[in-house]
Amino acid sequence: MNSGLQSLLTLTDYIKDVSSQEVVWCSLREAKLIRKLIDILRCHRSVDSSLKLKALYWSKRAVSKQAPEFRDHHQKDAHEFLTTILDQIRNLSHLLQGVAACEDKSYTCPVEDHLVFRMQNTRTCKSCGAQSTRQEDFSNLSLNLAPGGSVQQMLQDYLMETALDFHCECGGNKSGQQSTFATLSKVLMLHLKRFHFTPFLQLEKLSDPVDLYRELLVTSAQADGWYSLASVISHLGSGGNEGHYVSDGVHPDTQLDDPADLWLTYNDAMVTETTGASVCKNGSERPTCSTKDG
Ligand SMILES: [Zn+2]
Repeated sequence: MNSGLQSLLTLTDYIKDVSSQEVVWCSLREAKLIRKLIDILRCHRSVDSSLKLKALYWSKRAVSKQAPEFRDHHQKDAHEFLTTILDQIRNLSHLLQGVAACEDKSYTCPVEDHLVFRMQNTRTCKSCGAQSTRQEDFSNLSLNLAPGGSVQQMLQDYLMETALDFHCECGGNKSGQQSTFATLSKVLMLHLKRFHFTPFLQLEKLSDPVDLYRELLVTSAQADGWYSLASVISHLGSGGNEGHYVSDGVHPDTQLDDPADLWLTYNDAMVTETTGASVCKNGSERPTCSTKDG
């Protein structure tokens, strides 16, 4: 929970856009989660630990209202927790836009505005070349782990054409399926799938190292985009039902291109200074779970 929230707070432009629309969400009962998350932001630098504890307790309660799997105190998946929060905020957007319109104001969903991108899936018949396309919105992508590979390579693997059995009108039954980015988001959240089920349905962790680089190139139908690494959430431990999450993120007081390269490592109550360079170096050595680029 701590790693996911700290990582989210690292996205300063996103957080700014949530805060700046307070007049819309502040009094709406349904928007309790947004209020509780901003409470965390407001006591982020406080030395009063009871204040922080209260803010965390109430945000966990707010998330769990619609996602009861987070009600208990057992080990959970950081990626699931983070995407649940983002989905819940996104689901409020229609309601908040309505509330804003009634008061002659406007509301832009910060998740839609910063994290959501559109993927296009194209199926091509190998016999006649007939194509069909479908577009879908995503707030993050889950990539298969390429042992010893880089995130760039894992993304390339994801975008590669795969074979598909499909019966075409022409009589052919071999097609190819390919995903491409139709649009790009300001922040790109990538999840590296370190956990998988064995043929005996045991949850297993892949501990292979991954090469972390500061920049990631993503091509889309609109334009190519360069992303700079802003935050990494890592799972430490050997299994899927145990271990501990830590996160590293660009220091919220600095810019991504600041030559000081100051980052913070969030390990529950312990926050230590580090640099982006050493996060990439250590990330390659320590078995990590997921990366989040922004
Ligand atoms: Zn065909």
